[in-house]
Amino acid sequence: MAEFKPVEGQIKADTLVVGGGIAGITTAIETAEMGKKVILLERLPYLGGRVARIHQYFPKLCPPTCGIEINLKRIRINPNIRVLTLAEVESISGTPGNFEVKIKQNPRYVNEKCTACGECEKVCDIERDNDFNHGLDKTKAIYLPHAMAYPPQYVVDPKYAGDEGMKKCVDACDYDAIDLNMQAKEVSATVGAVVWATGWKPYDASKIDNLGYGQYKNVVTNAIMERLASQNGPTEGKIVRPSDQKGIKSVGFVQCAGSRDENHLPYCSAVCCLASMKQATYIRNLYPEADIHIFYIDVRSPGRMEDFYTKIQEDKKIHFHRGKVAKISENPTNGNLILEAENTLTGEIVKTEVELAVLATGMVPNTSVDAPPLDTPLDEFGFIAPNSKTGIIGAGVSSRPQDVSITVQEATGAAMKAINIGMGR
Ligand SMILES: Cc1cc2nc3c(=O)[nH]c(=O)nc-3n(C[C@H](O)[C@H](O)[C@H](O)COP(=O)(O)OP(=O)(O)OC[C@H]3O[C@@H](n4cnc5c(N)ncnc54)[C@H](O)[C@@H]3O)c2cc1C
Repeated sequence: MAEFKPVEGQIKADTLVVGGGIAGITTAIETAEMGKKVILLERLPYLGGRVARIHQYFPKLCPPTCGIEINLKRIRINPNIRVLTLAEVESISGTPGNFEVKIKQNPRYVNEKCTACGECEKVCDIERDNDFNHGLDKTKAIYLPHAMAYPPQYVVDPKYAGDEGMKKCVDACDYDAIDLNMQAKEVSATVGAVVWATGWKPYDASKIDNLGYGQYKNVVTNAIMERLASQNGPTEGKIVRPSDQKGIKSVGFVQCAGSRDENHLPYCSAVCCLASMKQATYIRNLYPEADIHIFYIDVRSPGRMEDFYTKIQEDKKIHFHRGKVAKISENPTNGNLILEAENTLTGEIVKTEVELAVLATGMVPNTSVDAPPLDTPLDEFGFIAPNSKTGIIGAGVSSRPQDVSITVQEATGAAMKAINIGMGR
């Protein structure tokens, strides 16, 4: 059985995987199922990464539970995997085949006796912004990060661990599972190989002055749209206008919002066109009369994803417009947005009024702000460069923008590379 317990002291493994998103989970499972020991380290209180926040996957439009649940089961039953949540690498030294790693594991303030019964949450009066839903709603200070969270244990927001008000949560727990005095732990590990799978964060849309994010309430991002559409999101799956909570008759998707733009993200994030097409289906399913306008420079739907694009085009209420949106302004009388775009073929300026605008912002690698150790080389955008001699192997979006299916293939390759390094010890 994989460990949930905070650990102390010295541990040994063939591979350390940093980042518990779909890339890290895949690498860990593939490694462990080859009979190798692996430490899977995640800085948040739960595994799953960004995929856990998606409403449905393209192209099949199934919920993330499809893929994640089976993987979590594989982790649960495999004694070769040791999961450390709330953990971060402090330092790595050594060479491929023999790395010494210092890990800091932050306190959860809830131990493994937690049954996730929720009695502590019921009595808790303190609230915090729910980061899982991009701060659009609140959770209690003691909370289960989301319905599928693994490990299935509550966690206390560290800001409130010392708050007198938390004592009633301790009293409400019949299992003695809450320990507000829990301390951070230092863990040392010796590993043969390191796979770095720390993923991405959304590009900060408020930096794109001309598109009105943060200025107009009815301009949201694609990452927020995933949460608005989710049953476990802030609106329980009802996609409504943030300004007046009304249903929606028209939506404009702004492709390449900040992407392929020297002033913002010069590269293509590879998933945004498909994500917008998918999100168009979220709205069409809820509002059969709604018109969707997708403004694009060119549509990127590589390989078999072309079939998904073709299927979406069959919907006569989804309109594709060639043109980059240069400006969004608000109609002050009704809170609608006016999208101004130039058709890149005809030069014609088109103005379209919609009730909600969705900015398809790209993926920024976390490695660009939080670099991997050992001076691991990064490319000009902050992704881990291929074939580094440091022995730190990139997997998932930390190595390039990619969707889940390519991430899974690449992460499997990373597991094999890591095993290879370990065998050379
Ligand atoms: C709006 C949108 C919708 C999308 N929809 C789809 C879709 O429908 N289908 C599809 O195939 N793809 C989709 N994608 C792409 C998909 O989200 C990525 O392919 C996937 O998240 C990549 O997984 P990952 O594990 O590389 O990164 P992540 O999901 O970002 O996971 C990385 C993990 O590492 C952890 N971490 C970060 N830093 C550290 C650290 N220093 N130490 C320890 N842990 C750390 C993070 O907390 C996180 O858990 C979408 C992308 C966007 C922007």
